[in-house]
Amino acid sequence: QKVQLAAAREERILVLVRLRPLSDQEIVANEVADWECINDSTILYRNTLREGSTFPSAYTFDRVFRGDCSTKQVYEKGAKEIALSVVNGLNSSIFAYGQTSSGKTYTMNGITEYTVADIFDYINRHEERAFVLKFSAIEIYNEAIRDLLTSGNTQLRLRDDPERGTIVEKVTEEPLKDWNHLKELLAICEAQRRIGETSLNERSSRSHQIIRLTIESSAREFLGKENSTSLAASVNFIDLAGSERASQALSTGARLKEGCHINRSLLTLSTVVRKLSKGRQGHINYRDSKLTRLLQPCLGGNARTAIICTLSPARSHVEQTRNTLLFACCAK
Ligand code: ADP
Ligand code: MG
Repeated sequence: QKVQLAAAREERILVLVRLRPLSDQEIVANEVADWECINDSTILYRNTLREGSTFPSAYTFDRVFRGDCSTKQVYEKGAKEIALSVVNGLNSSIFAYGQTSSGKTYTMNGITEYTVADIFDYINRHEERAFVLKFSAIEIYNEAIRDLLTSGNTQLRLRDDPERGTIVEKVTEEPLKDWNHLKELLAICEAQRRIGETSLNERSSRSHQIIRLTIESSAREFLGKENSTSLAASVNFIDLAGSERASQALSTGARLKEGCHINRSLLTLSTVVRKLSKGRQGHINYRDSKLTRLLQPCLGGNARTAIICTLSPARSHVEQTRNTLLFACCAK
C-alpha cells in the first residue's frame, strides 16, 4: 500500500500541446502562422518581426502535435494510456484548455469517441468479467450545474457521498450500448449546450462541459455471490471554458458575474493543477470551485491526469497563445 502511494505521488500530469492549422477563414483574412512544432516536444514562436528580441520563443512539453496531426494521433500518443486506465479501476481526467476556437471541442469529442471504441473492444475481449459502462454529461455555467442529457434548466447539486466522494445529485446516467449510441448522446449534449447561446460559441466559450464515463466490472464466476468484488472507476473528458475568460475582465452586470465565476473555476483549476504538478502534497483547494470539487477524486491520489492545451497558430492570437503556454508550463 505504501509503495503504491509513493508511486502515485511521483506521477506527474501529462501535458500535451496541440497546434491547429490556420482555418480557411484565417487564410482568406491573410493571417500568418507564427508557431511551429520543431520536434515531438518543442514548439517555437517564429515571428521574423520579433527576431532578436528577448521574447521567449521555445517551449518544451511531454509532447507537441503539429497542425497536420490527426486527433487519432493525439489520442494514441498522448491520451490513450491515461483514458484507458479506467478499465483497471483507476480514475482519470483529460482536460482541453485553450482560447475559444483553438480546437478544444474538436479534440475532446474525437478523444471521447476513440476511448469509447477502445473500452468496448476491451469489454469484448474480457468475457470473464461483466461490465456496465455509463455515460453522463453536465455543464458548469456560472457555477450552476446543468444536465446535458435532459432538457430544461433544473440546477443540479453536488453532494458528498461517504462512499463515492462528491457526486452530482440526480444526474442522468445512461448505460452506453455501443459506439453509435455515444454519437447520439454527444449530439444531444451539443444541442443542449447551444441553448441560451446568442451567437456562435457564445455560451460554450463561457461554460465547462464534463463528460463522465463510469465503468463497473466484476468477475462473472463470483456474480451474485457474497465474495464478489467489483471495480468501479471514471474517466472524465473536460472541455473547459475559453481560457480568455481567465484573463479578461468583463465590465457590466450579468456579464461581470459570469466572468467572475468562470474566473473562479479556471483560476482554481490552475492553482490545483500547479500544486498537483509539484507533488500532490499539502492542502489543495479543491472546494473553491464546483469544477475542482467535482473532479477531486479524479485529480489527486492514484488518479491520472492529462491536459491538452490547444493553440491557434495565428499571429493575431499571440497573446492568448502565450497565456495558454504559460498555463501549460505551470502544469508540467
Ligand atoms: P473551441 O472548442 O476551442 O472553441 P473548436 O473545437 O470549436 O474550438 O474549433 C474551432 C474550429 O476549428 C472548428 O471549426 C474546428 O472544426 C476547427 N479545428 C479545430 N482544431 C482543428 C484541427 N486540429 N484540425 C482541423 N480543424 C480544426
Ligand atoms: Mg468548444
